[in-house]
Amino acid sequence: MRTLTILGSTGSIGRQALEVVAAYHPEVRLGFLTTNANVELLAEQVERYRPYGVAICSEDAYQAFRERSRFEGPILCGAEGIAAAAAWEENDVVLSALVGFAGVAPTIAAIERGTAIALANKETLVVAGELITARAQERNVPLLAVDSEHSAVLQCIVGESPHTIERIILTASGGPFRSYSPEQLEQVTPADALRHPTWSMGAKITIDSATLMNKGFEVIEARWLFDVPPERIGVVIHPQSIVHSLVEFCDGSVKAQLGVPDMRLPIHYALTYPQRRPTALPRIDWEQLRSLDFEQPDTVRFPCLRLALDALASGGTAPASLNAANEVAVAAFLQRQIRFLDIARVVERTLATILPSPMTSLDALAELDRHARFEAQRIVRQLQQEG
Ligand code: MG
Repeated sequence: MRTLTILGSTGSIGRQALEVVAAYHPEVRLGFLTTNANVELLAEQVERYRPYGVAICSEDAYQAFRERSRFEGPILCGAEGIAAAAAWEENDVVLSALVGFAGVAPTIAAIERGTAIALANKETLVVAGELITARAQERNVPLLAVDSEHSAVLQCIVGESPHTIERIILTASGGPFRSYSPEQLEQVTPADALRHPTWSMGAKITIDSATLMNKGFEVIEARWLFDVPPERIGVVIHPQSIVHSLVEFCDGSVKAQLGVPDMRLPIHYALTYPQRRPTALPRIDWEQLRSLDFEQPDTVRFPCLRLALDALASGGTAPASLNAANEVAVAAFLQRQIRFLDIARVVERTLATILPSPMTSLDALAELDRHARFEAQRIVRQLQQEG
């Protein structure tokens, strides 16, 4: 038996992970399931999947769960509760599927324990990639990507020597506005942006996909996960989302991983890596498939990709500021406080006010995160006044 704790079990990745475990992983025993505040779904999951314990971040939601549920296992509360669930000594694998900066501390807590990480929280590597990969290496902890692109790269490099990798090429669907003009982009609403053409995901990552910030984050993620310098990581737009990424080797050969866009496959692979195990997940329909298209990303219409690449080049704390500003901007856009193109403006202006410094500690990073959020909030208000 292997014990799996899922941080963020009520989110999109968490729900699909529970499905995958129930369907294909009889050897997995569930440790903790955690949620920010969705205790209704957590209660259903507890009934259905019988975890050892739960952790709930919001104090109010924790009280509500205690009053309503007859769950007899441990019920932990607050950010400390989530970190304790991550660091539980019986965990063999922790699936880190929280959204945003909130995922960093519990992921580090699990690494410190020496627990293998299935990493779906890309912000963890964006803000603290240098610290986290160094720590994981010291502790000999595997970091397995549960991002479709990075799972694809992982599947391409199994059995290859790292020094033979010449280039990683991440594919991007281009999002729902791939062919929009700048004028059309000004008019985009949250409802438009939440309608992703190929992937079904949570709200934050769906907006990040529409701005291409998600792809910028994934370049940063790849840089740390595979220890490949930024100039050897490319991005290509591939609207069908069938080719999940490619790796070019020193002899000129290119390997790609293909599949139906379905996050259950990368989740499953993270649990069986480096082996494979049969599933009944959907197959590519080769009779229907007519073409696979590729084009270059347009960083003029989608400046977030350029901002992310610049932040990676600046190094140090720049990607952490990028992430904080983006989290604030996306939330403000979803609340209709700013417009779609303002997301990039908030990020750009925040990065211009906060000079990057070397990455020292997690505490310094948390302080920087607060500072960058404060600046980003100020810029959001400025943009609202400018109308
Ligand atoms: Mg992805």
